[in-house]
Amino acid sequence: MPTIVRHPEPFHQQTAAYPDLDLVPVQQYRTDLGSVKIASAPGYTIEPMHDSYGRRINYMRISLTDACNLRCVYCMPEDMKFRPRRELMSDEELLLLVRVGASLGVNKIRLTGGEPTIRPNVVDLVREIACIPGVDDLAMTTNGILLDKLAQPLADAGLTRVNISLDTLDAEKFHNITRWGHIEDVWRGIEASEAAGLRPIKLNSVVTRNFNDGEDLVEMARLTVDRDWEVRFIEMMPFGEVSDFQQTNVVSFQEMRATVEAEFGPLEEASYDFVDPSRPFRIRGAKGTLGFISSVTEPFCQGCGRVRLTADGKLRLCLLREDEVDLLTPLRAGASFEELRVLMRDGAFHKPWGHGLASGFFAANRAMNQIGG
Ligand code: SAM
Ligand code: SF4
Repeated sequence: MPTIVRHPEPFHQQTAAYPDLDLVPVQQYRTDLGSVKIASAPGYTIEPMHDSYGRRINYMRISLTDACNLRCVYCMPEDMKFRPRRELMSDEELLLLVRVGASLGVNKIRLTGGEPTIRPNVVDLVREIACIPGVDDLAMTTNGILLDKLAQPLADAGLTRVNISLDTLDAEKFHNITRWGHIEDVWRGIEASEAAGLRPIKLNSVVTRNFNDGEDLVEMARLTVDRDWEVRFIEMMPFGEVSDFQQTNVVSFQEMRATVEAEFGPLEEASYDFVDPSRPFRIRGAKGTLGFISSVTEPFCQGCGRVRLTADGKLRLCLLREDEVDLLTPLRAGASFEELRVLMRDGAFHKPWGHGLASGFFAANRAMNQIGG
């Protein structure tokens, strides 16, 4: 008999506040999920949260800053204005909200940005988050520029893995797409991450039409032949001010796959857990794997258990939807741990089913760097 997670009033209130949501009664729905583990941890009882579709929400991606040391053309305009420090979560505020999430069953955390490694005290912050009861997986998505120096301290502090963004192996093209970057810095960062044991190494490659959708994509894929890395090709997503560029230049998963197969022959499917947005494949005989993240043309919303915490303390319910719950303002106004817990749990309950790209809806309220990818 599966455990039923009972929630008091807020669900009913929220249901009334969203009359157009087709909600299944919560308790009845949850019995279909199977057994829900309730663990205890010092200071709070972990009570898993779910959305109204029964998806378990256990993964939080946290933007440590909206600022960055690069200006990738598909991410932000060159003259991007960043938020003043006072509008961003302090370390203490961020740690409190992670504790709130952990008390609601968030066990996977990914630190992102902007560029997470430029946040002051990032190593101490990682150490503190890694100690929070309930958090058992702490990863980071980074451009890798500063990993040469930071990989080992971050690993020592409790970081488990890194995803490093790299769109091409061509130094000049890398400089052009990032506007400012030097590829040698990223390579040193990758080597330092491997040496520090931040494995498996995953490289994220956003594919842009007529830029890196041909030979560059093939050379990125070739990296997996001799290395046990995962190279992940990402369909470009439209956001905020640069959405025209993004829409014009998206390359579909099927096109990317065809390009790789034209060089290496048919890809073999690797095992897939239906939770990771990346669909894994393998070049025959290769040590590593290839992943395709097809958010635009073949979305994977049914397995999505993610919420995002923006650097200014908003719980973003879907990368590609504008829905957000402000947690920082109530926190600064003196909300208790329990009140923040209710806000987060009820926000997550109203996570939208999926994005609306197919019907022409683009989230315009933030650029990618302000959400955290
Ligand atoms: N600065 C870090 C980095 O580049 O890895 C972390 C933040 S970045 C916003 C997170 C991921 O989003 C990166 O892998 C980046 O390539 C990807 N990204 C940025 N803009 C994108 C877009 N328009 N569509 C798809 N992915 C994008
Ligand atoms: Fe910076 Fe990452 Fe955006 Fe590039 S993708 S501009 S590295 S935040």
